[in-house]
Parts: sequence; C-alpha cells; structure tokens
Amino acid sequence: MSVKNNINFFKKSFSPSDCRLIAVSKTKPVELLQEAYDAGQRLFGENKVQEMEAKFEALPKDIEWHMIGHLQTNKVKYIAPFVGLIHSVDSIKLLEEINKQGGKHNRVVPCLLQIYIAQEETKFGFDEAEVTSFFERDLPKSFPFCFVQGLMGMASLTDDTDKIRNEFKGLKSLFELFKKTHSQNMKELSMGMSSDYQIAIEEGSTLVRIGTSIFGERNYN
Ligand SMILES: *Cc1c(COP(=O)(O)O)cnc(C)c1O
Repeated sequence: MSVKNNINFFKKSFSPSDCRLIAVSKTKPVELLQEAYDAGQRLFGENKVQEMEAKFEALPKDIEWHMIGHLQTNKVKYIAPFVGLIHSVDSIKLLEEINKQGGKHNRVVPCLLQIYIAQEETKFGFDEAEVTSFFERDLPKSFPFCFVQGLMGMASLTDDTDKIRNEFKGLKSLFELFKKTHSQNMKELSMGMSSDYQIAIEEGSTLVRIGTSIFGERNYN
C-alpha cells in the first residue's frame, strides 16, 4: 500500500461533487504529503498550528490547509493569513479572535462550528442548544471576517454502527435546519474519518477527514 494508491482508492470511492477528501497529515513528514500532492491531493488537514505553518512553508502554495484540531485563541494569528477552513470552532471566544485576526489581514476566514455529537467524554464543541441560539440570534452577522459555512462533528469511538449513524443523522438534521431557517451560507458538513467515513457519506457528509487510511498509523513518540 502506498500513499498514492490510497489517494487513488478514495478518488474512486466517491464523487468530489458530493463529498471531498481531506488528507489528515498530522505527525506525518512532508515527503508523504508531497506524495499525496503528486497523486493530485490538494486538501490537507492538520491539528497543530506550528506543524501546519511549517508544512505550509515547505509545500506547494496551491494546497488548501484545513485546521481540524482544537485551536487556542492565542495561536489564531499564525494561521489567519492562509488557512483554508477552520473546522474546529468550538466557542464564541474563538470566533471573536478569528474575526479580529481576519480583520487585521482584511481576509474573511472560512469556518465551521464544531458540534458535540458523541455521547462519551465531552471535550470540545457547541451543544445543540448553544448552536441553535447562535443562529437564532443571527450571530454569524456579528463576525464579518468569519464565514460560517457549516458544521463539523465527530462520532463516538465505538463499533456500534447504529450509534454512529444516529449521531451523524442528528448532525445532518441540525445542518439542514440552520440552512433552511437561518443561513443560506451553510454548505459544508464535515463528518467521517477512516473508521466511519462510509456511514458519514451515506448520511450526507460533504468533507471527510481521513488520516490513517491514507498515511498509515500515527506514531506519537
Ligand atoms: C486525526 C483526526 C482525523 C483523522 O483520523 P483517522 O482515524 O486517522 O482517519 C479526523 N478528524 C480529526 C478531528 C482528527 O483529529
């Protein structure tokens, strides 16, 4: 199995008009990202600001960089000039900072709101009530340098595919609700990783975030 073969496998697995592939390259060396790039991959996902910056410097400039991990407010300034999409906006405070940094660079930063959908250990993300109130109060308008264009969620880590499917279904229906009632700008639904992307696509994902099945297991030493 090579990175190139894996990218080609995913290219054949679903049509980019329905769902796009983000190659999650965190912890992986630039040589492997270059291999994916040479196979035609242009969207890459990282979860650490410094690592994303270093890879942005080292690799071709037509790559679109997606921040998928928890983002600290004091680090927004480093990626605001170039980041393609921030999937992991998990608080109003973070959105305020992205708006401020976007303003400094006169750049509207594309963002997704991360929604907490898994039943287990609650860490990052808005819950349903918070995000509903966000749209009901028409808050996207208060952040002119953030383009809130969708939602992101991670399903529970479980073998129970019914549970995973239900969590994705819940996120999809929230997405449809906000699209209808509050924002025509809602166009991206980021859900699905190596273990559950097929279910995610069946449930309406527009962006799957796949690491292990492209680059192999990660080694965090
Ligand atoms: C690491 C990561 C992924 C990719 O996970 P794989 O199981 O390696 O495909 C997807 N989404 C987020 C938010 C991640 O942090």
